[in-house]
Amino acid sequence: MTRRICKWYPVCPIKRFYEEGKLEKIWVEKYCWNNNEKCARYQLEERGEPHPDNLLPNGEVRKELK
Ligand code: SF4
Repeated sequence: MTRRICKWYPVCPIKRFYEEGKLEKIWVEKYCWNNNEKCARYQLEERGEPHPDNLLPNGEVRKELK
């Protein structure tokens, strides 16, 4: 299986949260490193709709994430 990194990854807060150890690897593996267009953040970005930094790819908001 060919894996492609999401085009938003370099600027996505999810990358920063992961690199800072605040977010489990499963998120970047399942979404960001897999170019998963089902990502809630991805879809909102595509539509130009604002969304909080702590919105997870599955659409959940994780309040403690900053
Ligand atoms: S969280 Fe979504 S939009 Fe952000 S890099 Fe990962 S897949 Fe792309």
